[in-house]
Amino acid sequence: MSRAWDRTSTSTTLRTILTDLRIADVRVTPIAFADPPLLNNSGCHQPYALRSIIEVETEGGIVGLGESYGSKSILDGLAAVAAQCPGLRVTDINGLRRVAHSLRNAGDESSMRRIVGAIEVAMWDAHGKTTGQRVCDLLGGQVRETVPFAAYLFYKFAGHAGVGAEDAWGEVLSPEQLVDEARGMIEAHGFRAIKLKGGILEPDSEIAGLNALRAAFPDAPLRIDPNGGWSLHTTLGLLPRLEGLVEYLEDPTLGIDAMAAVQAKTDIPLATNMCIVAPEHLPPGLAQRAVRVILSDHHFWGGLAASRELARICAIWGIGLSMHSNSHLGISLAAMTHLAASTPNLTHDCDTHYPWQTDEVIEGGKLIFHNGALSVPEGPGLGVSLDRQALARLHHNYTNHGYGTRDDESEMQKHQPNWRFERPRY
Ligand SMILES: [Mg+2]
Repeated sequence: MSRAWDRTSTSTTLRTILTDLRIADVRVTPIAFADPPLLNNSGCHQPYALRSIIEVETEGGIVGLGESYGSKSILDGLAAVAAQCPGLRVTDINGLRRVAHSLRNAGDESSMRRIVGAIEVAMWDAHGKTTGQRVCDLLGGQVRETVPFAAYLFYKFAGHAGVGAEDAWGEVLSPEQLVDEARGMIEAHGFRAIKLKGGILEPDSEIAGLNALRAAFPDAPLRIDPNGGWSLHTTLGLLPRLEGLVEYLEDPTLGIDAMAAVQAKTDIPLATNMCIVAPEHLPPGLAQRAVRVILSDHHFWGGLAASRELARICAIWGIGLSMHSNSHLGISLAAMTHLAASTPNLTHDCDTHYPWQTDEVIEGGKLIFHNGALSVPEGPGLGVSLDRQALARLHHNYTNHGYGTRDDESEMQKHQPNWRFERPRY
């Protein structure tokens, strides 16, 4: 076998792989999956959560998967960008950004990052599935065996308005019910850290809930996230009661200036997925020392590559790193796990809504937590594949029971007619 033959063979193989990596088609399927009546500062979760499933098919016939938001505005943007993707290689993240940027509406950088993030994950998956590599390896290599997640507690109603039956979790509005919810979630999944979604009840009630959790789970790191539901004045007044109780305080109040004013008055690390959610927020947020932890989210930071860049910035500036979530299914969870598994400076257990979801869209059913953590799914790419029957069923939900956009306020008003969205509320 001559060396010249080797070179020809190698270049032929390379050409074949590069051709195989070209995008032939991008399909976006909106879905709606069952969601419990969870409470937050914006109101109450509706009976269905909206989501989109993205399939990037290569000229080699490989299908990469992504999962993202399902509101109409994002779906419209996804459709526009998806139509321009054929011909790009799945490795060409800059090309995807260029396409999205050329189609964006003036000033709509935030939507553009969400759209790039949705398609980009499916491109990484297709890249991995074509070349036999896991996404965490493509992102720089696995640095931890398993990825720890937190028990994500919500106050909630017993069932959706107009539905007679309670769901499996029942009503959770008191400290005792909150401890029961935590116990159920920890017994089922083994979580170590506990996060409470706050900003809904009176702050006194929510701090009573935290104290009840502390008594029941003495070693669990606790967090509370009022979603900007507290004024600056209220937050400053509550600090003495939170010191020594929580590992971090997530978005108690709104905006970089107010968060910086709180952080200057306390040793409790402040965390955010609200005041630093885009690259342009980093310089003022870091200069004002507004937070000590950033909750990354590849769905709105612009994908896995952008989230890797964010992690590096956090490492350089000595900022802690955790992970935010919205209601999601297994494709998102797999992507979050690959990203976290390849992020050296993940400092806190990640958020996930996954235990609240009963539906699934991947083959084999739900991914399973062991001791509150997930192993990286086995196999190339994200290691998950699409259950097409489930996709059809959840798309049927979307077309028959869905809504164009999420509306927690009007859902809350079905339970409490005089309720109005207010931020801050207290
Ligand atoms: Mg948050």
